Amino acid sequence: MCGILGIINEEKAAHSVYKGLLTLQHRGQDAAGILSYNLASEKFHLHKDRGLASAVFDREVIDGLHGSTAIGHTRYSTVGKGDKEDLQPLILNYPFGIGMVHNGNLVNYFEKRRTLHEEGLRHPLTSNDLEVLQNILALSLIQQLSGSHHSGKLFPSELIQLLGRAVREVYAEVHGAYAVVGILAGNGMFAFRDPHGIRPLVMGKKTLASGQTSYCFASESATLGYLKFEFVRDINPGELVFVSMSGEFQSLQLLQKPQHHPCMFEWVYFASPESIISGRNIYATRLNLGRRLGERIAALRQYEELPIDVVAPIPDSGRVAATSLAEFLQVPQREVLIKNRYIQRSFILNGQENRESAVELKLSPVGSEIKDKNVLLVDDSIVRGTTSKRIVELVRKAGARRVYFAIACPPIRFPCMLGLDFPSSEELVAYQRDEQAVAQVIGADKVIYLSLDDLKQSIDLPQICAACIDGKYPVDISASKEFQARR
Ligand code: 5GP
Ligand code: MG
Repeated sequence: MCGILGIINEEKAAHSVYKGLLTLQHRGQDAAGILSYNLASEKFHLHKDRGLASAVFDREVIDGLHGSTAIGHTRYSTVGKGDKEDLQPLILNYPFGIGMVHNGNLVNYFEKRRTLHEEGLRHPLTSNDLEVLQNILALSLIQQLSGSHHSGKLFPSELIQLLGRAVREVYAEVHGAYAVVGILAGNGMFAFRDPHGIRPLVMGKKTLASGQTSYCFASESATLGYLKFEFVRDINPGELVFVSMSGEFQSLQLLQKPQHHPCMFEWVYFASPESIISGRNIYATRLNLGRRLGERIAALRQYEELPIDVVAPIPDSGRVAATSLAEFLQVPQREVLIKNRYIQRSFILNGQENRESAVELKLSPVGSEIKDKNVLLVDDSIVRGTTSKRIVELVRKAGARRVYFAIACPPIRFPCMLGLDFPSSEELVAYQRDEQAVAQVIGADKVIYLSLDDLKQSIDLPQICAACIDGKYPVDISASKEFQARR
């Protein structure tokens, strides 16, 4: 998963994009980058590096990113090792000069990369799947331009048709999830979503003092609010939008009846609580998840003894669901796991020993509130089970009598090839395990998962992508073997 952002027609666009990246930092902490375009000098300005946005950029660097058009990226690596050339944004010089950022994953990346290399004679410069998408788009543009009488400047109305055909080509060739924002040098900004709209993308606008309009495209609506853009709407699955350098907006719906399958994990874990995706509030949905989990526990209690003295959210991701769960069960909720806010990221520490002690470094139990109590821990999800196992241990060591673990998401049993770093099935703790077996692995007295039906009803959309739960991928995953083996 990644955070993407684009702003056009705003003075010092890179300044705003930087601020916006801070609001998208939760979507990826491996690296950050900004590409600006200055119409007056016809120049791109690019800066990107590994690390958090605040570490990658300083005032001087941002001041050097000139122009009123800019795109930005916060990276969470799923494909590629994270070498510097793999970081986004990526630029291609022909045609026009195309700068791009994306959030998602191409399942048939390796196959397409090979075809481009061997048949198209395009030498890969990165291990990032965006490069393949960008090349397919560019190739279509080149073919269209060479087969037409176009020479020199194109009108925005011609450009969007040109881009539309190129994006259709992307749809035909690429299998996966992708939300994209790009700059077409000298011409404008484009944005599109894959045919299933798996990854989120919203747009906002702002009327400037001059009467002109500036536009913003972002992974999440929270970013728009922070940057004082008025929320307009989500970009639709299968939709392409284009804003010219003078702020003229156009949209093309490329697919007649797109099947929208937004990723359920945005509501479960990924998106910021104050964001709204597909008209569904993240915070309110998490409250729904927690309440339904509470209902499940209440139902279980009719058949078995399940004494709970305290509901303890696992910070920060389990907090919202824990609130409504505790409310429903009428059990006190206590913040008894204290997160050390000065320890940033546990996996920067090298070596397994360090990694294992990282949880203890990051979370510290309030012993007095745990000792001799029956504790119900609440988290948003369990993936590998490693963090959960440590936390159960921690709470036991602090003297808990019983430790239950409630999870506001159904068991994750299938790999994600559409943007999340969910590994092969074998690494998933719920793979070929039921609740009881998972409880045994993580050392809990009992594990209580949410049902898929409850998840669907909590989000309340006609369709979602829940492939990591039910194995029903909305896109062609015939290339998944190679993807899993080589990514
Ligand atoms: P586990 O016990 O499976 O090792 O870790 C579960 C925790 O990981 C949960 O608290 C959940 O919030 C968090 N988590 C779930 N998905 C992701 C992800 O894609 N990236 C990161 N960094 N954390 C995740
Ligand atoms: Mg968490």
